Amino acid sequence: MPCPICQIGRSRLKLVTFTEVYGRTLVSVPNTPAWACDFCHAVQYDSAAISRIEALVGQAGPPPNRNRRHPVSSRQKPSLMSPKA
Ligand SMILES: [Zn+2]
Repeated sequence: MPCPICQIGRSRLKLVTFTEVYGRTLVSVPNTPAWACDFCHAVQYDSAAISRIEALVGQAGPPPNRNRRHPVSSRQKPSLMSPKA
């Protein structure tokens, strides 16, 4: 499908590691399906996968890893547009 960000590139489905901060806990989910643009490299996570992750986090609460430090570069964090379509 065409990239919704730049309208130039093509988004391809691939598996990435989803990282998001819920409260004060960093949640990291490997092998999350996401659409990555081959032109601007914007990443949009698959909305179904995100719904599943948020349901899991909502039910169980964030995992107790508050004291663990992850060397995550914020540079790689994609800009999340809400994929409503
Ligand atoms: Zn793009």
